[in-house]
Amino acid sequence: MRPGPGNGFPVKVGILAGSSNPVALDIIASTIAGYEHTDIPTTRTALERGLWLKSAEEIDYIGPELSSVVKDGFIKVGIRKNGNVAVQFVVRRIKPLRKLEHRPVFIKANCIGCGKCIAICPVKAIQLHPEQKNRVVLTDSKCIRCFCCSEVCPESAVEIRRKLFGQ
Ligand code: SF4
Ligand code: SF4
Repeated sequence: MRPGPGNGFPVKVGILAGSSNPVALDIIASTIAGYEHTDIPTTRTALERGLWLKSAEEIDYIGPELSSVVKDGFIKVGIRKNGNVAVQFVVRRIKPLRKLEHRPVFIKANCIGCGKCIAICPVKAIQLHPEQKNRVVLTDSKCIRCFCCSEVCPESAVEIRRKLFGQ
């Protein structure tokens, strides 16, 4: 499986989706991709807060019958259903436990040194390797696990997984 959407496998759905309500749009889009919308952590949190929507039943959907555009060709990512924000906050502050978190792991053999991950990282946690070409290094203590680096990498060089040993 390719690790990021910047280098993923597109699936032709045949519709253009838009909404002034981002949570409604995410619910419809994730449903088309074959997810239960309540399994998506950001959607679940948004519904709990109720700022944009309180439930999917409030969505005024205008378009083709949803079941006719739901696709089973998407490669779905694993979802951690019990992602408790408070627990994650604590885990991030206990150094040995940080190793248990999913994190970006840079695959040296795939990296072409394009720098897209460096450019998008919001906390400047990635740098080009000072001596080796086509290699980047991560300052793990800075990383906020946004996974944008994996999303933009065009070469499948950023995997999201646990890494118990090494940098
Ligand atoms: S975006 Fe991917 S290929 Fe480009 S420098 Fe970063 S890890 Fe390497
Ligand atoms: S996961 Fe986010 S914060 Fe961490 S290195 Fe990648 S882009 Fe930077």
